[in-house]
Amino acid sequence: MRVMAQIAMVMNLDKCIGCHTCSVTCKQVWTNREGAEYMWFNNVETRPGLGYPRSWQDQERWRGGWERTPAGRLRLKSGGRAHRLARIFANPRLPGMHDYYEPWTYEYKNLTDAPAGEDMPVARPVSQLTGEPMDTITWGPNWDDNLGGAPEHAPGDPVVQKIREEVGEKVRFAFEQSFMFYLPRICEHCLNPACVSSCPSGAMYKRSEDGVVLVDQDRCRGWRMCVSGCPYKKVFFNHRTGKAEKCTLCYPRLEAGRPTVCSETCVGRLRYLGVMLYDADRVPEAAAVTDEKDLYAAQLRCFLDPDDPEVAAAARASGVGESWLAAARRSPVRDLITKYRVALPLHPEYRTLPMVWYVPPLSPVVEEVAASGHDGEDAGNLFGAIDALRIPVEYLAELFTAGDTGEVDRVLRTLAAMRAHMRRLNLGEQPDESAAGAVGLTGRGVEELFRLLAVAKYEDRFVVPTAARAEAEALAGSHPLPDACPVGGVPAEQPLLTIQRRKERR
Ligand code: SF4
Ligand code: SF4
Repeated sequence: MRVMAQIAMVMNLDKCIGCHTCSVTCKQVWTNREGAEYMWFNNVETRPGLGYPRSWQDQERWRGGWERTPAGRLRLKSGGRAHRLARIFANPRLPGMHDYYEPWTYEYKNLTDAPAGEDMPVARPVSQLTGEPMDTITWGPNWDDNLGGAPEHAPGDPVVQKIREEVGEKVRFAFEQSFMFYLPRICEHCLNPACVSSCPSGAMYKRSEDGVVLVDQDRCRGWRMCVSGCPYKKVFFNHRTGKAEKCTLCYPRLEAGRPTVCSETCVGRLRYLGVMLYDADRVPEAAAVTDEKDLYAAQLRCFLDPDDPEVAAAARASGVGESWLAAARRSPVRDLITKYRVALPLHPEYRTLPMVWYVPPLSPVVEEVAASGHDGEDAGNLFGAIDALRIPVEYLAELFTAGDTGEVDRVLRTLAAMRAHMRRLNLGEQPDESAAGAVGLTGRGVEELFRLLAVAKYEDRFVVPTAARAEAEALAGSHPLPDACPVGGVPAEQPLLTIQRRKERR
């Protein structure tokens, strides 16, 4: 057993309101620079939709992630090392500006400086790449927000296309009456990252202390194989510096025991951060299981129980500190992933073993029940609707369980039981244990899950160990770290960035 610690994230999709605050605050802190205008380390997509970059899930086109060979081995979908080196100067699997969007700003100055005249001055769009005025804007990072243009664009959603192949006529695009939800996305900081294995320069690496995947800017030669290799399309190419860039999971903040900027500023308070312990020896086997539908269970088997004395001893022997062990025991992410099993990985079939998991939304089902004039809080109605409304369930299964609707059914039923149980309690009625029992929980267990999902406080949602802080302070010497870190507090964290670079150079 080789115990490793990973900072993981869970997002509860029922609570996302699609406000994009997470994207904007992330951009303000990390990609508000020349060459990074088009980059969104955090983006929020409306589902069904094409996403950012367009159709990023279409792995027939991009060849991202891993595949299992007939001999049972894993290989990058983009081909072996020789194949990739042969394409190093002409890689056809790269998203172009058309797939992201041409970043633009507006001639704001014209609004105040235009000479007096008959007409109102206007602020025309100007390309941030060429500086030239743009006649028409035809695509953006969030063009199909809230199903805007969905009749035209959403049929191209690779998940919708896959469901159509499987269930044919069942998918109908009456989007005004259809389901939708938001999917916030960052880099998955995978246990088996395809980006790291794709890099010919060895510039991408996964930190051993917390699992964060980073790009060493000094070693990056700009080959962009990582952009192709990442199936989530969460590595970007900076056309000014000629280097790759990606989400850093706000490691300077993590080192100070703080949550990421996107988590801290999330209006819906739907993000959870915590430590997961896993057995690194089980990762290759888990990523190579034969049936894609078994990947979720295989990844669960990689996770270790920090309350198990044998695991704790092995963790200490691997260098996992006491504060990390303590954090792993109180990890909200661990509760959602392994205790209640309501969080699921995004596209496990890419075989990268992603570490940003999602509680799938029950709201499309609740809305459908309520719209039909029935009680959307009643467990019986909801259980029946989960069975009847196969399209949202099949769509969610394509996103989170490689098409296994059984697991999605189970999670949605748990959420439905929680709603029904809590409503009875809130109305002062006698709680009905049968709804909780139907999903293998007790009434008390359901109430604990509700507390975690619905009303958890800041310190319960973010359990980030501070061991790295003591180490950082020791390194910082005369620069003690600030106790409070304001949102977007990059200047306050600058000493940590310096420390990180020093550590990485060694
Ligand atoms: S999601 Fe992140 S860690 Fe995973 S392959 Fe892509 S860039 Fe690498
Ligand atoms: S800030 Fe939170 S609620 Fe708003 S879009 Fe981002 S994840 Fe959703």
